[in-house]
Formats: sequence, structure tokens, C-alpha cells
Amino acid sequence: MISCSTEKKETAGDQPRTRIYATFVSHNERSPHAECDPVVTDQAGYLANRALTRKFAEMIVTHQAAWDMQSDYQYLEAVQAWDTDTEKASTDGKNLIQYLAELSPDRIVLDAHGHTETGGPNYADISYLHELLGAPRNGVVGGFIYDPTESETWTQFETITTGRVNPAVAWASDILWGGGTLNHQGVDDTSSGVWRPKDASNFYVDDPGAHLVNIGAYWGNPEGLTDLLDKLHSGRLEQGRMYTAAIFFNQCTLSDDIVQQLAVDIDAHAADAASGDLVWATLPEIERIWREDYSSTPIIFVQ
Ligand SMILES: [Zn+2]
Repeated sequence: MISCSTEKKETAGDQPRTRIYATFVSHNERSPHAECDPVVTDQAGYLANRALTRKFAEMIVTHQAAWDMQSDYQYLEAVQAWDTDTEKASTDGKNLIQYLAELSPDRIVLDAHGHTETGGPNYADISYLHELLGAPRNGVVGGFIYDPTESETWTQFETITTGRVNPAVAWASDILWGGGTLNHQGVDDTSSGVWRPKDASNFYVDDPGAHLVNIGAYWGNPEGLTDLLDKLHSGRLEQGRMYTAAIFFNQCTLSDDIVQQLAVDIDAHAADAASGDLVWATLPEIERIWREDYSSTPIIFVQ
């Protein structure tokens, strides 16, 4: 059955319309990291990347897309140390984190990203540093281990966690994004959809009583978004469901060419965004829409 999306009603009976919800997600990484060392350990490299990050943010706003900027602790410390008054002149007198948090909160949010498996600052610490810099806490866990079961790092977030660097700070999480495998030895999560993982050995089982909500990145690249839209157009997705995708990139590798290419990836789907088949939305917004418009109906789609 082929149906033209532009003729669809917003709902079919009591069912919400099947749509693809997508966001860009970026990471920066703590040292040692080949791509990020020039950004998080060198001031000149940081400042060059700062200009590109601001440019990317402004592109997201003008192209009406969405971006979850996920930062680890060391990058935030670089912002603290190196965003001098001179640098802040280019961002309305604010440090970069506060500037991005306030630029367009419906399109750009700042999430914590960390590698708790390797020690050092944990999600409570990273979230707290965001807050100190001027970005509100939002409960997103931007990256975790789900496989193998004995190495998983996500079930700890079912309860409030406290900081390792700063034990006085507490953090409540709501949203999981970016399930990976220890040392990337297995298959990273490539699901689309939203559900509540049951427990350590049943990540792909929805438990309506579980607290944490996982949002799938699908393939994490522009091809994955195109693939889902193709499946939607050809009637191969379930009715009344919320599908999700992310376009992932490493913030440390940003260049003028990459900013331009990512703008092209947005423009390529302008017709789908206009018709409503595609909705650009940040992870907290996707979670809210899932609860309010899709009645928290779980979906786990893997291909
Ligand atoms: Zn990372």
C-alpha cells in the first residue's frame, strides 16, 4: 500500500500519525583521543573548533533542524578555562555552553556524555558542570554500554547517582541515547524507536514499569534517515508509531566542509520536513512527544 504523506490527516482514527523524529548528535571526548586532543588540550585548537561549533549551531537554527550537543567533562573544563572575555565577545558575552543553551532551546540542547566505565568524572559530575556553565540539566545519558551484560553501565541510572569528582552533586536521569558495546567489540545499538529497557540482560524488552526511556539512533548517519523515510513512503512502517533516527558526528572533527555537508543533508529532506513525515526534534522533546502524542507506545525497530 502506497500512500501520499501530504494527504494524510494528522491522525488516523485514534492513532497518531507515523513520523520519523530526528536530531543531530555530537560528541567531544576526553584525552587521550586522537581527534579530540587538539581541541581539549590545546587552546588554539579549542578556539578554532569553538568558531566552527558556533557556525554549526547557527546553521541548525537557520535550517530549522535539531541538535543534541553531548559533552564530556574535559571539554567543559576547556570552555571554563579558555572562554575569556575576548572570546565571549563573539557569543553575546556568554561562554559557549550558555550561548548555545540559550540560542534556540527548542532546537539545540546540551546533554551530558561520559565514559563512566573508564573512571573519572561521571554523569552527575558532567551534568553539574553543564549547569555551572549555564546549560540547564536535562537528564539525558548521552552514551552508555549495554553489551555485554556484565559490563553494562546504564542500569545505575534507574536511581539517582552522585558525582565522583563532586560527591555532593546528585543527578536523576530520564533518557538513554547511544547504547554501545564495551570497547566497541560487539554490535552498537542500531534500533529506531522509543522504549523502556527492562533490565541488564533484557535491554531490548520494553517494561512499562521501568523509569528510563531509550531513544534509538538507528544507523546514526544520513543514510539511516533516508532509509527510514523511504520505508515510511513505501508503507513499510507500522501505523501510529514514532520512529527515531540521529545523525552523529564528532564535534572535534568539524570543518567548514562538514558544516556545509550537514546542511546539505538537512536540505535533502526539506520536502519531508514540510509534509510532516520528518520532524526535527531534540531528545528531550522526542521523549515528551512519545509520552504525550504516542501514549508511550513502545517501538523497537531494527534493520
Ligand atoms: Zn565518548
